[in-house]
Amino acid sequence: MTLIAEILAIGDELIHGALLDTNSKYIAGELERIGVVVHRFVVTSDDPAQLRAAIVDACSRADVVVATGGLGPTLDDRTRDLCAEVLGGPQWFDPASWQQIMDWMTKRGRSVPDSNRRQAMFPPGATPIANPVGTAPGFAVTIGRARLFALPGVPREMQVLLEQSVLPAVAAMPGLTPTAQHWLRILGPSEAALGDRIEPFMVPGRNPAVGITATGGLLTIRIVGTAESRAAAEAACAATAAELRPLVQQWLFAEGTLDLPELVVQRLQQRGHTLALAESCTGGLIAARLTDVPGVSAVLRGGVVAYSNDSKQALLAVPAELLQLHGAVSEPVAAAMAAGARARFAADVAIATTGIAGPDGGSPEKPVGTVCFAIATPAEQRAWTVRIANLGRTFVRDRAVFEIWRALLAT
Ligand code: ATP
Repeated sequence: MTLIAEILAIGDELIHGALLDTNSKYIAGELERIGVVVHRFVVTSDDPAQLRAAIVDACSRADVVVATGGLGPTLDDRTRDLCAEVLGGPQWFDPASWQQIMDWMTKRGRSVPDSNRRQAMFPPGATPIANPVGTAPGFAVTIGRARLFALPGVPREMQVLLEQSVLPAVAAMPGLTPTAQHWLRILGPSEAALGDRIEPFMVPGRNPAVGITATGGLLTIRIVGTAESRAAAEAACAATAAELRPLVQQWLFAEGTLDLPELVVQRLQQRGHTLALAESCTGGLIAARLTDVPGVSAVLRGGVVAYSNDSKQALLAVPAELLQLHGAVSEPVAAAMAAGARARFAADVAIATTGIAGPDGGSPEKPVGTVCFAIATPAEQRAWTVRIANLGRTFVRDRAVFEIWRALLAT
């Protein structure tokens, strides 16, 4: 037995397609990490009847409901009103929350409109969850069989409240089975080929459970184990990982649940290496993913998106002859781009990408999906080509980014 969760994303903009619900994805990952099983995401409008039904339904099915959105000061922010309605009681005013809201606003030189008082009102029996990074406090309340946690919609605020208040509260709930995870990151085989290789482990009901997820060409073997204690669950996952490792060694390039850009930054830091980027077909994606990582400035010197031949020459000192002789998508050009970036940014390590993301531009010798990579380190200069499956521009570019993570983790 374990705790079952549903996630409720609230807001008209979400169902009108104006905004992607990224909150649910984040919350699900965090809940699963501590052993809660997420059964359902529900995305609902602010419409009172719809929202009321969504709250009642989720709270009748799940032990934990995490809701985001609808906690603002305006009348269309209805999460607290409808929770109170479902509970059949009046809302109550919390002077401590009101004080925090006023302090937050005055510290930022803003006047405090009276409408903000709504944000210090709570459904009957609710426990306020202070918001140290914004105005809207959240709250926890029991509705039906569920403990419902209502959090602000703003992702940064949601994340802080989730981490500081919700996860510790859920972790302390009775019925939560201690869980651990271990991930093996795989690049190279198809999902089916990997599945065949590890088939005996993928039987339903196995503990630890073994499953494969795929994103943009990257495969992750997720090992999820439960046991009487967290330590025992971790040991069980480690034992399964040890059995799997020899089967996938040729494709295995990282382990653990850290995001790959975080892992790359960590590895570079451990080696005391700085990094420069020369991106063509990835168009700055590598720089964007790396700069999501806090603390990346310790390792990342800079990068250029050198898309045209001219810019490859002017910014990265790629010799014109190489471009003429081999074409922009070629290993010699990739190698020259990496060398150019390494020199230009005075970095220890540089990487380069140049390829054909499609849909046009392919040829029989260099079909769409052909991407040339290079890495230049104090110890080596290496260029190589990968024929990525032509599954669309996004796929080719994402897969190219994973190839760079693999190369950087292997140096
Ligand atoms: P606030 O007091 O800041 O308005 P709130 O709880 O009322 O908080 P919303 O107004 O519902 O939050 O959402 C605020 C913003 O947060 C949205 O405009 C959107 O940019 C972002 N947001 C809301 N819900 C989600 C979601 N599910 N996924 C990603 N972003 C979201």
